Order: sequence, then C-alpha cells, then structure tokens
Amino acid sequence: MQEYDHRQAGGAAAVDFGISAARSQIGKGESETHCLDCGRQIPEGRRQIVKGCMYCVKCQEKHDKVLTISQWRQ
Ligand SMILES: [Zn+2]
Repeated sequence: MQEYDHRQAGGAAAVDFGISAARSQIGKGESETHCLDCGRQIPEGRRQIVKGCMYCVKCQEKHDKVLTISQWRQ
C-alpha cells in the first residue's frame, strides 16, 4: 500500500512540474504598455496577469482567432 502512495505522490509532483514549466514560459518577457496593433494603452491589470502580452484585449482576440484558424488548416 505504501508503494502505491509513493507512486501517486510522484505522479502528482510530475504534473505540478509540467504546469509550472509551462507557466514560466508564458511569463517570460516584458509586457508592452501599449497595444502593438492599435496603440491603445494596455490596462495594468492585464499586463500583470498576461505577462509578455503585446496587444489589448480586442486585438488579442483577433490574433487568437487567426492562430486558431491557421491551426485548423494544418
Ligand atoms: Zn489593440
């Protein structure tokens, strides 16, 4: 029974590590103060939550849609 518990703990740790690794990649880079597309100021809250963000919410949506469509085509 103890062996089983160890395996479970190890599996959970591996999952945690994967998530934190993915998060650290997203968090890299400075956020832009102004949207690269429309030049509007990006709200401070958004810049802190989405680290490395380059667009305002509206333009980000456009970019996300383009990304999704190009992924579908492949
Ligand atoms: Zn914008």
